Amino acid sequence: MAPRNISVAIVGGGIGGLTAAISLLQAGFDVQVYEQSRLLSEVGAGINISPNASRILNWLGLGEECARVAYRSPFFHQRRWDDGRTLTKARLATDIEDEFGAPHHIFHRGELHALLAKPVPRERVHLSHRCIGIEQDGKKVRARFENETEIEADVLIAADGIFSAVRRALLGTERPRFACRAYRGLIPVEKVRDIPPESTAFLGPGRHFIHYFVSAGRMLNFVGHVEQEDWISESWTEPGKVSDLRAAYEGFHPQVQKVIDAVDETFIWAVLDRPPIPRWTFGRITMLGDACHPMIPFMGQGGAMAIEDAAAITAALAQCGDDVEAALKLYETVRLPRTARVQNVSWENLTRFHMPDGPAQVERDAAMAKGMTDWSYKHIAWLYGHDAAILDPSPQVAQIPGH
Ligand SMILES: Cc1cc2nc3c(=O)[nH]c(=O)nc-3n(C[C@H](O)[C@H](O)[C@H](O)COP(=O)(O)OP(=O)(O)OC[C@H]3O[C@@H](n4cnc5c(N)ncnc54)[C@H](O)[C@@H]3O)c2cc1C
Repeated sequence: MAPRNISVAIVGGGIGGLTAAISLLQAGFDVQVYEQSRLLSEVGAGINISPNASRILNWLGLGEECARVAYRSPFFHQRRWDDGRTLTKARLATDIEDEFGAPHHIFHRGELHALLAKPVPRERVHLSHRCIGIEQDGKKVRARFENETEIEADVLIAADGIFSAVRRALLGTERPRFACRAYRGLIPVEKVRDIPPESTAFLGPGRHFIHYFVSAGRMLNFVGHVEQEDWISESWTEPGKVSDLRAAYEGFHPQVQKVIDAVDETFIWAVLDRPPIPRWTFGRITMLGDACHPMIPFMGQGGAMAIEDAAAITAALAQCGDDVEAALKLYETVRLPRTARVQNVSWENLTRFHMPDGPAQVERDAAMAKGMTDWSYKHIAWLYGHDAAILDPSPQVAQIPGH
């Protein structure tokens, strides 16, 4: 079958689902997207899109639009929590583009989402379609939705996020792993004029605080990650109190206090993941993004991995012709070791970022000062230098020192 005769149903119109839709449409597949929300939109806050993912957005013809709406930070600066001493300072801006051939962009999530929604024709996006059931018979896959519609396709891609209904149908109910609480919010640049333009993280015992500009520099995004025992609320995001945020960062560097002083409103999030799984393709059904490999944001890679998945799944389906089951298996074989590695490194950073002051933390700081940890170009090349459209099933990710 030619691609245009292969129908692909994508459940979920988030970053991963929309990127897959654009990429598969460009390759000639017959794509429909089913999204539970009434509107195609994203909640506020920021998202880093590193060269491994921005390279793909460039290929999809979105590079100019990305450059127009995103912020390009000059550095990523990691500092000690109290005295602000530099632990590492990685060059971003033009240097990273020279090194890896694609930029590091920081987006307001809503702007990234809008940019991805634009190239997908309206008639191919079905809003208010909450998937509640799936089945397949070796020839077709069917999905049922809460609004009582049913659809049939040759392939179904679950891009329905960390609480994926499709994953639950395939693997049963699993509880996500709780990492920490996050205070998030946005501040207009007018209120933080004297905050340096670089992305900055202050690493401290049991918590860290990160801030970076988004929306082409018009807003400062902040995230305060604070460890706690468990998440007891039903919701994974709810309004937070600025007074709690302030109390959580007492004793942190004056720059952190300045940012918090400018905060009017904050939301708290449960930062969750799920450990890697051995498979995520089942016949004509597969998953991408947070549905199959949710990760905590301590490498800033969840959205980037979803974008990589979209490129890989398109390449696999284009390569395998009629045999869609083989294509989805190839996609899983290629992607699983890499995404599992990023999940694991992200989780390890929970310990590394939040070390209590003491000998282990002194050792960490020395390693960071020598450029021995992630974000030095040498140590991040396995991640940022990757081309997800090349389907290399060899374990291309195993031999980087330090991990
Ligand atoms: C605090 C924080 C900071 C982060 N920072 C970064 C960062 O800097 N860089 C980065 O790359 N990543 C970051 N991430 C991770 C990133 O946000 C996610 O990995 C990314 O959004 C995953 O995309 P996705 O398309 O797989 O899922 P989602 O974005 O969750 O999209 C899923 C979509 O599916 C829809 N849906 C859900 N269930 C159904 C259903 N049953 N039927 C139909 N539709 C459904 C949802 O409404 C949604 O539109 C961060 C995450 C957090 C929490």
